[in-house]
Amino acid sequence: MIYTITLNPAIDRLVFLEKHLSKRKTNRAAKVAYDIGGKGTHGSYAMSRLGVPNLALGFAGEKNLEKFEQVLEQKNISHLFLKIPNEQTRESIVIIEPNNQGTTMLTEPGFLVPESIKNELLAYFEEQVTAEDVVLIAGSLPENFNLSDLEKLIIGLKGKNCFIACDLSGEALVRAVDLGVDFIKPNEFELTELLLSEEGSADYALNQLAQKITCVVASRGELGSICCYEGKRYQVKAPKVNEVNDTGAGDCFVGAFLAAFSKDWDIEAALKTGSACAASKVQYEDSSYFDPVEAEQLMSQVELTVCQNTI
Ligand code: ATP
Ligand code: MG
Repeated sequence: MIYTITLNPAIDRLVFLEKHLSKRKTNRAAKVAYDIGGKGTHGSYAMSRLGVPNLALGFAGEKNLEKFEQVLEQKNISHLFLKIPNEQTRESIVIIEPNNQGTTMLTEPGFLVPESIKNELLAYFEEQVTAEDVVLIAGSLPENFNLSDLEKLIIGLKGKNCFIACDLSGEALVRAVDLGVDFIKPNEFELTELLLSEEGSADYALNQLAQKITCVVASRGELGSICCYEGKRYQVKAPKVNEVNDTGAGDCFVGAFLAAFSKDWDIEAALKTGSACAASKVQYEDSSYFDPVEAEQLMSQVELTVCQNTI
């Protein structure tokens, strides 16, 4: 089974404007849609669209739980979120201007997670996870879910010998790297965050990371990605497409990559699947939608070059 963990989810209200956003005016919406933000759920969405079973886990506030679960169900995401009494899941407003003119996000502070519910999550994994499972931890942490809580979660999972993937940033990503998780996908910004304590170039950092992490994918937007896995370096060129909105490209990549990789650990197939699904995604306004049929066609346009990793 693949589990995704979204510790700090949000109900995203996507407001598509008719025209350019202007201050001190009534800005009319052409349509409104809902999504669950917070990254892990986007990974689950990509896996579900590819027909790969998975379960989205995390925390959710009791006060607006119904609305939260309704959006997950509309998106066919199997889920089991632990309920936080008397709290609500943060709601975000995402204002999308027409013709790729930009996105503005207004977000609320998130909930606080009681210690008993943090422990419930640890206990769930202790009982359920096996060495055959894949667990993706993605997105930001709730305000009072600190690095030592993340550490406990990762150490618990490591004890189970499952494959641990992390799409985190900042200090949380640094901590995940220190603990030696199995997969990370830093984008260019996150890679420089990991570089701070290291000497040398991004290239050097990638090689250093490859010594600690089973599979590292450094994503580079429309340029594609570079992956280090089992002593080899894979240079991946992304298909050329008409980009409409690249928000969520990384989440889509990670979800699709893990869906393919967990089948038979074929790295080339996984890189092609992740790249093709993400290339499909960027052609749509929505930050998670992609078309699996279109992705299938884009697979042949993903260019892969393999060489030995020189350290
Ligand atoms: P996010 O955090 O918004 O989900 P990210 O910054 O983590 O995204 P990116 O590096 O932007 O991730 O993109 C991830 C992958 O998506 C890239 O490695 C590439 O394969 C694909 N991708 C992104 N932008 C494009 C594009 N314009 N054309 C084709 N593929 C793209
Ligand atoms: Mg990302």
